[in-house]
Amino acid sequence: MNYPSIKNHTNMKMEKALIITIDGPSGVGKSTVAKSVAKRLGLTYLDTGAMYRAIALQVKRNPLNIDNEEELLSLLRNTEIEFVNNKENNLILTLNNENITDKIRSPEISRLSSDVATKSLVRKKLVEIQRKIGLNGNIVVEGRDMGTYVFPDADFKFYLDATLEERAKRRSNQLREAGQSIGVDNITKEIELRDKQDKERLESPLHPAPNAVIINTTNLIADDVINRIIAEVKGE
Ligand code: C5P
Repeated sequence: MNYPSIKNHTNMKMEKALIITIDGPSGVGKSTVAKSVAKRLGLTYLDTGAMYRAIALQVKRNPLNIDNEEELLSLLRNTEIEFVNNKENNLILTLNNENITDKIRSPEISRLSSDVATKSLVRKKLVEIQRKIGLNGNIVVEGRDMGTYVFPDADFKFYLDATLEERAKRRSNQLREAGQSIGVDNITKEIELRDKQDKERLESPLHPAPNAVIINTTNLIADDVINRIIAEVKGE
């Protein structure tokens, strides 16, 4: 595949921001991989799933019929989502100036985020913010439609996949580490449902971009995936 290397970008005096997209289904390990790739390459990390989760939290707190465009629009007009740097130089997500980073990881918010993500009004608002961030900086951005829709001209596109069984296991371990114990069966059902909705929705459904490097991570550890991506970007 004919990709520019990261060195060429440095030589190009950063006229254009470097964008690396990492897409894939729920529980595949995108966050772990994207965060680490960003850190190792000195780029900013952007988690777009967190933005859909923020809208879901806003809907949970202000119950409404998300199929009613007027109600949804009015809520979105009162919803400000921002990523701000904290003292440790980590990006924290704020919803109307409240740090919600730790409030958006429950199964309920996962389900609701996939529901709100089917709505054009929501996608329009978030895609606008994502593209603005993309214009400003050199980023590693993870989500479902980064390579296909939000950044179709990204310099490097990756699509991570793994079996449903493996993804449920990974998500279960991740939740356990975060102090939440939820059975693998329930997690399997939840991510299966989300996969279906994310792949079948009308707007920006989840699928690999035609020019994405597809990595089946089922039998790989995170470090293997990270090294593979970095090698590709460095043109090694
Ligand atoms: O990645 P994460 O599991 O946090 O995403 C939550 C939900 O947000 C996904 O199930 C998907 O419906 C939605 N999403 C999206 N487009 C993105 C990122 C996430 O539709 N770029």
